[in-house]
Amino acid sequence: MRTKQKRVVGLVVPNPKKTPDVIGRYIRRQMQTKVNKVIFLFDSVSYSEFKRHFGGKISLEGLKRFNSNFPTGTYTAYPSIFFGVKTGRHGLVGTAYYSSKEDGLFSLMSDRVTDLDGNKITDRRYKRDRSLHSFLEYSKSRPIFLSQDLGWLKTSLWDVILLNSQRITIPLKGPEDKRDYDYELRALIKKAASMVEKKKPGLLCVFVDFDEPMHIFGVKSAKTQRLLKMCSSLIADMVKSNPNYDYFFVSDHGQIDQKNTKKLSVEHVKDKLYCSNGGVGRARYIYSKSEAVFEDIKRQVGASGLVLKRSDPRLKRLFGFSPAKVDSIGNIIAVATSASFPSHGWNWKAEHGGLSPEEIFIPFLHLKAKVRKS
Ligand SMILES: [Zn+2]
Repeated sequence: MRTKQKRVVGLVVPNPKKTPDVIGRYIRRQMQTKVNKVIFLFDSVSYSEFKRHFGGKISLEGLKRFNSNFPTGTYTAYPSIFFGVKTGRHGLVGTAYYSSKEDGLFSLMSDRVTDLDGNKITDRRYKRDRSLHSFLEYSKSRPIFLSQDLGWLKTSLWDVILLNSQRITIPLKGPEDKRDYDYELRALIKKAASMVEKKKPGLLCVFVDFDEPMHIFGVKSAKTQRLLKMCSSLIADMVKSNPNYDYFFVSDHGQIDQKNTKKLSVEHVKDKLYCSNGGVGRARYIYSKSEAVFEDIKRQVGASGLVLKRSDPRLKRLFGFSPAKVDSIGNIIAVATSASFPSHGWNWKAEHGGLSPEEIFIPFLHLKAKVRKS
């Protein structure tokens, strides 16, 4: 008997012709032109939010809707954008991965990363495949990377991506757990605008972080929407005042507002796991020794997600490669398909990692300079 296929509403399988690597290769080609450039790298601004907030402020003629990689996370999408390759090529599918060689879970971020049981995951340096080249290497001038002073942007992955670019950070007002997003984002964009105004950098990359406010307040919250409105207005003013720059706008993924986020329990199957988990938010990888764990996770996730074994051929479509032999992906993969997928248990208002349109559709826009240099 054919098992009844669960109807998944609003699940988007990434279109391989519209994934972030395509954006990355386009940006790399643009490095050949002599015109000065500003690249806005948003974290957590979906296609619809970009359109909503920039519409009427800058020209959206030429705005394209791309799909994020799977899982829809920063550590999957940004390496694809910088290197111009797909997930399967750079191999980063989440912030944490399991190594069967060393029988341990490792993090690409910092020691702040914990597994599902709250245990710290060992930090590990990310080593780049020497054949991968960041688009920054093709820049005719030394790139400047401007961002808020965020701990996770100082980790090994970013060292490998940003190479010899000059890094300028906007200091946080207080401790990292009590951030003033209004202050930071305003200071960040004002700084970018003044640099363009005064120093005329050849290539300025501005990393604009909406990820944390969205997680904490939710995407549709008044606070998040006000931050987006403020930033888009400041950016639009910058673009209008400096029309002789090329501007690129890109994001890594969006987020979806969550309801009833709860912890995925692995306590009772602990002896059947190598390590608790890896992955990001709404795409979790469970490193299991037994079939029983598969059934258990499947029961817990229920109607809120898909649970697939690593050997499942459907995963090839999601990752763009067959994950069967890739260490960094658990042998059980849970993909959220609803807004209430059991997650970290941090009670975040919004999450990403899954395949809903809000998470996967990302904007890409190239606004060309008014006066082109030959
Ligand atoms: Zn992100």
